[in-house]
Amino acid sequence: MLQIEAIENRIVEATARAGRTGFVTLVAVSKQQPDDVIDAALKQGLRVFGENRVQEAATRWQPRKQQYPHIKLHLIGGLQTNKVKQAVALFDMIETVDSEKLAAALAAEMKKQGRALPCLIQVNTGDEPQKNGVAVQDFPALLARCKALGLDIRGLMCIPPEGQPAQPHFTMLAKLAATHNLGVLSMGMSGDFETAIACGATHVRVGSALFGSRH
Ligand SMILES: *Cc1c(COP(=O)(O)O)cnc(C)c1O
Repeated sequence: MLQIEAIENRIVEATARAGRTGFVTLVAVSKQQPDDVIDAALKQGLRVFGENRVQEAATRWQPRKQQYPHIKLHLIGGLQTNKVKQAVALFDMIETVDSEKLAAALAAEMKKQGRALPCLIQVNTGDEPQKNGVAVQDFPALLARCKALGLDIRGLMCIPPEGQPAQPHFTMLAKLAATHNLGVLSMGMSGDFETAIACGATHVRVGSALFGSRH
């Protein structure tokens, strides 16, 4: 049983409660979901999906993108430079730019393939050593480098530390984006997307609340 309508309603209500007029995009996180769930979501009209692994995403989405040409696929997991070629060919937005090395590889590959994908920079707002994302203090330099490389950086993405209130992280990300004139904020997951919308999220990444627990 998919919860598409329920989640979409909660997004609309949270947007209204926040006194916001803009539209918040639901990125349906389809990782580790079975084929029948994905196909049901497509039948019910979902078109924006998030995946965290390049290979898994390619298996799932290459055939479906032929059938549904308007699908937008977001990469929301860490990207290694050896997967950049495949990622640029498959995805429509890269949400996880977090190093100069990756930025350079993406810029070169996009040029090669003639695909200028919009990108977000992932910020490690909790300064967690094991987590992807650029450290807050290194963010301005990375943004400058991305711009110099010609990457189309639209905004920021974060995953707050588990077991901590998410709101301070969302607020920090929103401030950072505003300071640097970046419009897109990808933040909020199943447990906290309404909080993220209150803090200014333009994109929420929802998996389990939409599709049920992962397999
Ligand atoms: C898995 C994942 C999500 C979705 O998580 P849920 O709690 O199932 O909504 C969102 N963002 C990222 C980066 C993820 O890896």
